[in-house]
Amino acid sequence: MPALKERNVFHRLVAAASLGLALSFPAAAFSETRAGPSVAPNADTTRAAIEAVLAEMQAAVLAGDIPGYLRHVATDDPIFRKEQENWAADLEKFKPAQFILAIRPDPSPAPRPDPAPAPEADAKQPATPAPEQLWKDRPAEFGPTRARFTLTMTWMMPQNDNDAGPQGKGGRTRSVEYPVIFERAADGRWLFKGEQWQVMELTPGAEGAPQDFAGVRVKYDPGLEGMAKAVIAAMPEVRAHVDEGFEQRIERVQEVKLYGSMAHLQASIYLSYSDSLGGWNEPHESIKLLGRAGRQGGAGLKTVMAHEYGHVATFEFGEKATDAPWWVLEGVADLAAAKFRTNPVERVNTIVHGWARRGRLANWEDITDFRNTKGALMGNVYTQGEHMMLYVSDRFGRTKRNAWLRAMAAGKTIDQATRDALGLSFADLDAAWRADIDQRIKAEDQAKAKQPAEPAEPPMPGAPPQAPKVPLGEDPPPPGKPKMTPEQPREVPRAR
Ligand SMILES: [Zn+2]
Repeated sequence: MPALKERNVFHRLVAAASLGLALSFPAAAFSETRAGPSVAPNADTTRAAIEAVLAEMQAAVLAGDIPGYLRHVATDDPIFRKEQENWAADLEKFKPAQFILAIRPDPSPAPRPDPAPAPEADAKQPATPAPEQLWKDRPAEFGPTRARFTLTMTWMMPQNDNDAGPQGKGGRTRSVEYPVIFERAADGRWLFKGEQWQVMELTPGAEGAPQDFAGVRVKYDPGLEGMAKAVIAAMPEVRAHVDEGFEQRIERVQEVKLYGSMAHLQASIYLSYSDSLGGWNEPHESIKLLGRAGRQGGAGLKTVMAHEYGHVATFEFGEKATDAPWWVLEGVADLAAAKFRTNPVERVNTIVHGWARRGRLANWEDITDFRNTKGALMGNVYTQGEHMMLYVSDRFGRTKRNAWLRAMAAGKTIDQATRDALGLSFADLDAAWRADIDQRIKAEDQAKAKQPAEPAEPPMPGAPPQAPKVPLGEDPPPPGKPKMTPEQPREVPRAR
């Protein structure tokens, strides 16, 4: 693989943005001749037409014109279309101060011993080069009805945004680039079809597919073949486990996208999103995962997949599921993934009891809104949420817990859903949950006091709580399925 030593060169781009702003950002150096070797005869007109489309998309984004942007997005892939609709919907609240879309110039034509691999090829890469290295040296192609090239997207959110939520801080220039496809529609318009993925799938009934498996399709950046295979291999177990916990069966093929970088994954969500994450899912979107070259699977991968598929399962409960409190969505997603973690119940109890001892349990209202939850409470969203899911599952059983989730997914408030499915108000449920924790803490303290004094155990006030010996429920029902939103699947530091 020829090394692209020019990759770190900064090239000054004085273009664009209808604001007339000049930005400086990294781009590959390029040669004087911009045409690649495989250009079609009308490549220049195709390229010019696509540049005109990019300019319109750019202007629409800067103006917060959602339909104006979406009219350039292809509609034939409903999952990609939905992801783009959600991406564009964010512009209503958060418009970038700067935004530039550009065709990245081809890298300088270093001698290429081999032609670039076909996109669908399952290339055998012994030393798994970084994904971006694999596609960055591919020349752009501008054919009569189809074009593929590397798109560079550069933007800056305005400063003084509310930075309590995932939108993070503005005033920082961000840039990503990835290979994309445009296709010419019957009416002559060029439409954005998204990333140029490689694809691997296991369809129902295919050789190697377990019986009753509803299928999985993985779209991934080059270099992530190993992880794609691991996702395929793990999905039957993950789906079966989570479906059982939610007491439902989802029949459709589950699509998963593996992103070669955190920046690309974040940018695919929406421009204002800047929190670290390992995975993401919203209704009717694919499961998006942060790819890692060389990742071969293991419990960590299953944990993230089960968390995300837990969201899929929750959304399946009803179209209003995304309106449920954020901690409900993440709590049940983490519950769905608990089976794949080490000591899941003990860990959750230890953390939550520790918070209770220090008066750090969150008020539920403070972890209800994804966009307005303080960074310091992010851990509570997931772990306190999961603890409540365990409590409800243990006290009322899996079926009632699912009825409770279904009621919220149908649009009931949490109080109404709690009354309908569990037979008490949410305030009473909360009080009972807190009383239960207090009782367990007392039991822990008593057990500790009764233990023969261990020589080296001076009871320090404020010392970290010990792991409780008694798990919350003997049979934590597997799975919940959560819902949307950003997850912080254990792969990513949760604390900010
Ligand atoms: Zn999540």
